[in-house]
Amino acid sequence: MLSRENVMREALSGLEAQRAANIAEEKRRRAEAAEKSPEVARLLEKRQRLFFAGMRDAFAQPARSQAISGDMQAQMAQINASLRAALVASGLPEDYLQPVYRCALCRDTGYVGEPVHEPCTCLKRAVMNRLYQSEGLQGLERENFAAFDETIFPDEPIEGRKGTQRAFIRKCRDFCEHYADGFAAGEGNGLLLCGRSGLGKTFLMNCVAQRVLERGYSVVVVSAYKLIEAMRRFQFGEEGVERVQDMLACDLLCIDDLGSEPMLRGVTVSALYHIVSERRNANRAVVVTTNLDSDQIYEKYDDRIGARLTDPGRMKVIPFIGVDVRRFAARG
Ligand SMILES: [Zn+2]
Repeated sequence: MLSRENVMREALSGLEAQRAANIAEEKRRRAEAAEKSPEVARLLEKRQRLFFAGMRDAFAQPARSQAISGDMQAQMAQINASLRAALVASGLPEDYLQPVYRCALCRDTGYVGEPVHEPCTCLKRAVMNRLYQSEGLQGLERENFAAFDETIFPDEPIEGRKGTQRAFIRKCRDFCEHYADGFAAGEGNGLLLCGRSGLGKTFLMNCVAQRVLERGYSVVVVSAYKLIEAMRRFQFGEEGVERVQDMLACDLLCIDDLGSEPMLRGVTVSALYHIVSERRNANRAVVVTTNLDSDQIYEKYDDRIGARLTDPGRMKVIPFIGVDVRRFAARG
């Protein structure tokens, strides 16, 4: 895993580059607008002159600086109103010459808050996503909706059902894509993808993770095994406070293969309960894949975990059915 300090430094220098790009874009827009409309060019120049003249006067006559700045502001407001009108008249948006930035909260500085200076959510998100992309999410570039290939699923009826497995997985895929496209932080609705191995659960979970990540949210993908390992280390004071915090605080937590983790007495059930219930209380979503069905989840863990992971008000349970496509692919 990359060190958090390095990733933070990288993210901050990324923001610095972003600010430079913003300034270049503002400059380009001014040139474009001035080129397009002589009136805009004239007003921009007038505004510039007024600005420098106001500063000079204020320095020259400190006693009158307040009056000078008030006067300047009034004139600026007038020029700005004319500028907006001139932009619209030349077919540009009226806010075309406003400051350019990606994050409206911190204006790409990475920090917010007065008097306490805090990292902006955009910075925290960038750091978290970079950290976890470096380890758990390697499959993600390959496992996305665009790469999803339903033709590896047999176009034959599933035993005891009318539809084919291919039609079924297409439905699951559409549902997951819809979920990922509609995902919003703080809504807390999650997915429980259950069923035997080789039915496409993990692939679809990674598709969801990738899409939600692309849409700008923080996502942590972790196997149940690693989750329990991280919680165990944390519980016994070895390390990993930040990792546990990330799992609690990210917008979307994806837990792969629940049920494959070791059942450590005094660790597994309580750690899982802690993660699941803390996230639920904070309205943060989880997506879980598991070979267990709902009843087995109740049996293996306890009622509180079972109830939270299968709660129809918060979780959509999707039971995957059909034949193992890895075996199917090997056979055909
Ligand atoms: Zn920000």
